[in-house]
Amino acid sequence: MKVTKIRWMRIEGLDEHGFGGKPRLTGVLIVRVDTDEGIYGLGEVQDFFGVRDAIDSIRGLLVGADPLAIQPFVTAMLYGRMPNSRMPIDASMSPTATAVGPVVWAVSGVEMALCDLAGKAFSTPVYNLLGGKYRDRILIYADRSCPGDIADLEQWRMLARTARDDGFRVIKFDVDVTAADHTDDEWNRAIPLKQLNKIVERLTAVRAAVGWDVELTVDGHMHYDVRDSIRLANALADLNLMWLEDPTPIINPDALARVRDKSPIAICAGEMFIAEQFRLFIDRGALDIVHPDVLFSGGLHETKKIADYADQHYIPLALHNNGGALATVAAAHVAASSRNFLGLECHFLGSKFLEDFIDRGTPLFNNGHVCLTDSPGLGLELNIAVCKKHMVAGELLV
Ligand code: MG
Repeated sequence: MKVTKIRWMRIEGLDEHGFGGKPRLTGVLIVRVDTDEGIYGLGEVQDFFGVRDAIDSIRGLLVGADPLAIQPFVTAMLYGRMPNSRMPIDASMSPTATAVGPVVWAVSGVEMALCDLAGKAFSTPVYNLLGGKYRDRILIYADRSCPGDIADLEQWRMLARTARDDGFRVIKFDVDVTAADHTDDEWNRAIPLKQLNKIVERLTAVRAAVGWDVELTVDGHMHYDVRDSIRLANALADLNLMWLEDPTPIINPDALARVRDKSPIAICAGEMFIAEQFRLFIDRGALDIVHPDVLFSGGLHETKKIADYADQHYIPLALHNNGGALATVAAAHVAASSRNFLGLECHFLGSKFLEDFIDRGTPLFNNGHVCLTDSPGLGLELNIAVCKKHMVAGELLV
């Protein structure tokens, strides 16, 4: 079997809930890999700058190659290989063979499509290609960011109660925007005391609204210095949070380890990391929970590698995901096959089309979970009517 075509399309629409409670345009790239045997695979890519060029470069490398040689493709693209390769995928032809940015993100989506394709070729679900499933039902953690009016405590309570009543047992909020109306200085990485007090007040209202059996987590989006990350963690300690995510900028494992040493809340990080970065942060003792994303790690196999390295250190796995339904299902296959899985993120509150552009014969969510089927590959097809309505670039993938 040989790869014959790699095509993509962008779908786009309004996210009414948005980020920080503000509506915004959102969308994803969908990629399709075709073969000379008529079997094809579907993947999703975050449409950040540079990824369309990277997919075009990958097309030049992968057309004519064996689509089942998934890890050799990822390894060649991210880490390079020895000269004089006789394989069609030759890292010397790659523009970078460097595990950064658009190359990793494009490889991640193409790898997802190759996994779907391989599952179809072997007539088995992708979780079986990753070692088999520990579970059928994948727990979702619902990212609710913040309400439209962050100063209105009743809006906080409503947002949290609605997520709970929709069946979600783990809910995340963006701590950096929780009291953004009290930011003093947009550059200095500090949390003024008045702002800290407002953060505590609003998140305390959330805890009171949902009770003590619902897990709550908060995301700092890499904004804070070490000192105020520790102060924030101590101020929120009584709310019994599941984790504090990305309090500091993510480049520095020593800084995060200093926060973790003094934080009463578990530290979760790594949404943009590849496996080598997780190894560095785990070895340095900077993480309580790993948080990879199949769209940013290099794909499903790389994410499974991260999950297994974490599990050898008895560190649990949460899966970051701000992609659409295709990425969500792909991540759910990794979740099914990873012993240490805790929860998979989902955002679809205000952008229903990101949930509806795939069809798998069953609703995506079921009482706070994604339930996997035993269909081959990722177990989904595109909903062409939804894709047609929202397509803004590329070609319709039929
Ligand atoms: Mg995050």
